Amino acid sequence: MSLNNSIAVIGGGAAGFFSAICAAQLALQKGFSVDIQIFEASDQVLKKVRISGGGRCNVTHHCFDVKMFCKNYPRGSRELLSPMQRFQASDTVEWFKNAGVQLVAEADGRMFPDTNSSETIIDCFFNLIEKHNIKLNTNCPVKAIEVVSPNGSQKKFKLTTGKGPFDGKNTADAVLVATGSVAGGYRLAESLGHSITERAPSLFSFIIQDDLIAGLEGLSFKDASLKLTLPGKVGKTGKNIFKQRGPVLITHWGLSGPAILKLSAWAAREMKQSAYTGTLTINWMGAENSNEVESRLNKMKSANLKSYLKNVYPDTLPKRFWLSLLDKCSIDQDKQWAQISKKEVAQLCNVLVASQLNISGQNRFKDEFVECGGVALREIDFKSMESKICPGLYFAGEILDVDGITGGFNFQNAWTTGWVAAQHMMGSNSGTT
Ligand SMILES: Cc1cc2nc3c(=O)[nH]c(=O)nc-3n(C[C@H](O)[C@H](O)[C@H](O)COP(=O)(O)OP(=O)(O)OC[C@H]3O[C@@H](n4cnc5c(N)ncnc54)[C@H](O)[C@@H]3O)c2cc1C
Repeated sequence: MSLNNSIAVIGGGAAGFFSAICAAQLALQKGFSVDIQIFEASDQVLKKVRISGGGRCNVTHHCFDVKMFCKNYPRGSRELLSPMQRFQASDTVEWFKNAGVQLVAEADGRMFPDTNSSETIIDCFFNLIEKHNIKLNTNCPVKAIEVVSPNGSQKKFKLTTGKGPFDGKNTADAVLVATGSVAGGYRLAESLGHSITERAPSLFSFIIQDDLIAGLEGLSFKDASLKLTLPGKVGKTGKNIFKQRGPVLITHWGLSGPAILKLSAWAAREMKQSAYTGTLTINWMGAENSNEVESRLNKMKSANLKSYLKNVYPDTLPKRFWLSLLDKCSIDQDKQWAQISKKEVAQLCNVLVASQLNISGQNRFKDEFVECGGVALREIDFKSMESKICPGLYFAGEILDVDGITGGFNFQNAWTTGWVAAQHMMGSNSGTT
């Protein structure tokens, strides 16, 4: 555990800002002075925070059971357990409350600032940066990090920035790399001996062209069961079948919605390897099995003999979808229920519980997109977020091979790993806030 006089934070995003502020707060608590600088490649910091959650910033998720929380990370769930025991979603809520920002939960668990604006989070961070005299260097990409030991003195990190040396000073006792998912950041990590795991997009929609859903964009299903089958055995695990359940949305180009995004996250690497092709089997009736759906349709028939098929249908389905389903099964929608044959009921039932749709590509979700892959987790000590390869070097946020599903889990990874790194860089490594 080290107590550093100068800290360089590379990347002015969620993880970099949060960690820099937490380190400064700790220094203040302990009564010592520390020089903290943030280096940001572009002219604008906190870009993703600003656009996140559709401009509302889904800061975290209302789940205060660490084990349950960590189940929402397709990569990193095991490694995050220990850091989350020290700084979890409830600590995030408390931290922001102490900083004057109230977070409120929505019915699905997502938590936003009560102003419903990401600017509230940005203002909060800027106030704290100013309060703690943290120096912000924008338009200042870090191009190289070297470990130096001038005149045999204590080891330091020398940074080379796109803008050249600033303030006559370009060394630091500790460096936090929080560059998100950009190639330049991975190169910095590699230059200091780290390996980068296979990168792949996560959280995307599926491109599907099928008559059943064509022209039905905007229709949503509260509960569908999904089974994704990829061609052949793909990935290191050879896993080619993935399942999910939950809301699904029909879009212009195919299917999206929470259940599809979750599926894309869990199958991110395997889908990349199969070039985003595969078969999606959907049960549009959620948990109901084939027998249950058949009996539901038969009951509907007996109770509505004189009604037209186009007017009476299962209440969990949107009408336009039902009409498309009749079309797909070549059943005349102007028929009465009395006229529908056993074979036709079975046919409807088959499509309802096991529609087979071909996936031909992926489309990135507009509200949240992350990348899986990054600095290999085995090379990081998750008690400190320090590199096991290069002492004094720390990592936080999306640069790690950690990614969560949608709902505030990706920001929580940034807060937690940033907080843990700050504790260790400031020589304090126990307890929570
Ligand atoms: C559109 C969108 C919406 C999202 N919405 C949500 C949401 O509501 N909730 C949620 O939990 N997650 C959300 N996410 C994911 C979340 O934004 C990221 O997981 C999170 O921002 C990662 O934080 P980070 O600090 O690790 O990386 P980033 O936020 O990407 O920040 C990295 C910073 O480092 C800078 N940088 C890179 N290389 C260098 C270099 N060499 N030198 C100096 N600076 C460098 C970059 O310019 C950038 O500013 C969303 C993502 C997107 C794209």
